[in-house]
Amino acid sequence: MKAKHLKKWESELNICIRCAYCFEGCPVFKELGWESDGARGKIILMYGLFTGELEPSQYIADKIFECTFCKDCVERCSADISVPDILTAARADLVENGFKYEEHEELLNKIEETGNIFGKELKTPARSGEIPVLLGCRLKERREDAERYLEILEKLDIKPLVVEDEVCCGMPQGVLGYKNRLKKQMDTFRKRFPYKDFICMCTTCVFFINKAYPDLNPTYIIEEIYKRLPAHNPKKLGISVTYHDPCNVSRGMDMVEEPREILNLIGVELVEMEKHGKETFCCGGGGGMLVTNKELSDKLAKTRYQQAIDTEVDTLVTLCPTCELNLRNASDRDGGKVKVKNLLDLIWEALS
Ligand code: SF4
Ligand code: SF4
Repeated sequence: MKAKHLKKWESELNICIRCAYCFEGCPVFKELGWESDGARGKIILMYGLFTGELEPSQYIADKIFECTFCKDCVERCSADISVPDILTAARADLVENGFKYEEHEELLNKIEETGNIFGKELKTPARSGEIPVLLGCRLKERREDAERYLEILEKLDIKPLVVEDEVCCGMPQGVLGYKNRLKKQMDTFRKRFPYKDFICMCTTCVFFINKAYPDLNPTYIIEEIYKRLPAHNPKKLGISVTYHDPCNVSRGMDMVEEPREILNLIGVELVEMEKHGKETFCCGGGGGMLVTNKELSDKLAKTRYQQAIDTEVDTLVTLCPTCELNLRNASDRDGGKVKVKNLLDLIWEALS
């Protein structure tokens, strides 16, 4: 197989010392249990693809795509290897060598036809303010929620500027290995949203944009709220919740304390799950898993949801819209014992 993208990661593929520290917290390994499900096994598969000792096969492709990009392995790796970045390269090589999934192609077609992952005509609640705000597909689809989150910014003395027809930032093309389609999507994104400094509502978009667009400077909405909220004397809500750290927030953007301090400021008692902060457990929704293997994604969400039940509170809050969706689906399947909310909804309540 031609492995031009993996070639860039040759030294990382060589320095994995096979220590297996990455097994400890890998949600996919914990669920499926085979060596090839953890980061070490995937590194060995990718090394084989790179050197040509392994021929690509559907089995190998499935293993390379069965990863939520949760970054638990990155946190633990003794050789400091960024496994999701290497998997992204391997996915690109596999796609360019003909290993394509119908579900992936369908999703990307929808984005190219309509500008969003839902394949629907969606308009943002446009605003002609001063500070550009990017919603991202998931919040563009949840228009009423997006309006409430814009109100939070307004209450914090920010005048949001929202363009009516923002399009997907290209994250799905990126994680699913479609380099050429990613480039086209990025060009469209830049045309429709021509700003360098802006606030981003979506956790996944902000993390992806920071990596893929080095010239752009997005601020995650929670950073802005964290800075401004204390001066606005929010109400104390007097409830108890548990908090799910999205991997892109705690491990990706190093924000562990900020959401917790906000909860404290709005009078919410936090009951921690055993796995929290940088040791958070994945919701199962990242890395394209929702389209690659929905059954596995649901199983991981169920495990995380059970960890929330174990805290004995009745509300689970999080930040990432994808974590929220996957955990809410797990909650619905369980009869809604623990309700799932976005932390932004609690902040809005505290400012109302
Ligand atoms: S990113 Fe997460 S799911 Fe993927 S190999 Fe690492 S620990 Fe496992
Ligand atoms: S922790 Fe890092 S070095 Fe150790 S086996 Fe896993 S990927 Fe390799």
